[in-house]
Amino acid sequence: MKLIIASNNAGKIKEFKAMLSPLGYEPISMKEAGINIDIAEDGDTFSENAHIKAKAIYDIAHTPVLADDSGLSIEFLGGAPGIYSARYAGENATNEDRINKVLDELKGVDKPLRNAKFVCALYFIRDDEYELCVSGECEGFIGEEPIGENGFGYDPIFMIDDDTSMACLDDEEKNKISHRARALEKLVEELGKEQ
Ligand code: IMP
Repeated sequence: MKLIIASNNAGKIKEFKAMLSPLGYEPISMKEAGINIDIAEDGDTFSENAHIKAKAIYDIAHTPVLADDSGLSIEFLGGAPGIYSARYAGENATNEDRINKVLDELKGVDKPLRNAKFVCALYFIRDDEYELCVSGECEGFIGEEPIGENGFGYDPIFMIDDDTSMACLDDEEKNKISHRARALEKLVEELGKEQ
């Protein structure tokens, strides 16, 4: 079954494809679905933003849609960048700019205070009768400098242990422990109850 992923983020689409294809879904990006709209993510929470995105696409396409809103939440920064993760260093900033901003803000902050988590809310709309919201988290801490070449976004500074950032994991390893994988596990479990 074709499933429109309400995103054009290549990193995310790749992860959804890897995780959902074995379940018989065929995740396609908005672009592949021929949908080219800018959706204002003006909710106050990850779940609200995921809902806004899913609904906007579903209202156009009327086929199953899965929207994800995700980001990095750092305890010392009061939960920032949070829902602003994608634009934390401004609209046209790069991943490197965002990473540097976070590292600057945590300069001199000791490890016990560098706790962080990735959060992912998923909003699924199957049809007019059935929709569902789930979320998942992955805990870690912010490293002193970027390491690793894989993944995307904040992965190089998100440490899962003293020597390993999320960007050191290959796709398969990340997809076992990530916030998106955990949210997706819950979604699959809930969808199973429906059948
Ligand atoms: P969204 O497209 O509004 O959900 O933006 C989420 C932003 O959070 C991304 O652009 C990344 O900067 C960050 N992010 C979300 N998930 C991950 C991840 O798995 N690894 C690294 N960064 C992530």
